[in-house]
Amino acid sequence: MPNQILKPLKGFLTLKYRIEVLTGLHIGGSKESIEIGGIDNPVIKLKTFKLNNDILSDVPYIPGSSLKGKIRSLLELAKNKPVDRFKKYQEEHKEDFKWDKAIEYAGKPCDCGECEICRLFGTGGDKVKEPIRLRFSEFYPTKDTIEMWKTYLGEVYTEMKTENVINRITSTAQHPRHTERVIANSIFEGDITFRVFEDDGKELIETLEKGIKLLEKDYLGGSGSRGYGRVKVHFCDYEWYSTKNEDIPQEIKQVLDNWKENTAICTKEE
Ligand SMILES: [Zn+2]
Repeated sequence: MPNQILKPLKGFLTLKYRIEVLTGLHIGGSKESIEIGGIDNPVIKLKTFKLNNDILSDVPYIPGSSLKGKIRSLLELAKNKPVDRFKKYQEEHKEDFKWDKAIEYAGKPCDCGECEICRLFGTGGDKVKEPIRLRFSEFYPTKDTIEMWKTYLGEVYTEMKTENVINRITSTAQHPRHTERVIANSIFEGDITFRVFEDDGKELIETLEKGIKLLEKDYLGGSGSRGYGRVKVHFCDYEWYSTKNEDIPQEIKQVLDNWKENTAICTKEE
């Protein structure tokens, strides 16, 4: 007998968030479209973005995959998954232990298929035991944010940060690098859809919330050790869609009503 049995789907819970950028954010994009002598490190952008009746081009956004990957990796760190995997490798390779292989193995995502993290985010390979609960949307800038970019940045929508390596002897700056960033006070909106199955309690959704809190303590994108990518994640609203005309499970509704914010960031025009 398997220790987990597939449960029927009850409904879709759409969790609506707004991400407030507190310090310059750099989520790396492709260098393809950048001319020589330009930026060394561009941010990821949408080729086209519809705003009212206008089509804007090269608009920065936050990919759902970046958010999902970061939240998952922080939850795994908090649950000591890499430590456990390192120990497992050590035990299985007593005779032929190799540091690089151990680190590579320990740093991979959990693939047990049973823990809360695998149940929320999924697992590759043949250990899948139930459908993935979470789906992350892309996060797009709000209308107010695009107005702010136009006001302070013109039609470029980003800032350029120059960083140098200091020569230890002469104290002069060497090898300047130009990194593109989304400016502080930008706001991105999107949602995380949670597929609720029969008997799902509040535990899984509390794990997601814990991951979001960890993200706020850590950073999003690159160069977090240099102050980039601090964010605040605002939980603004939720919608329940039942596949069987049932109400949202009471236990889940309670935690969501408790988390829901009514801050200006949530109520501002989209
Ligand atoms: Zn797992």
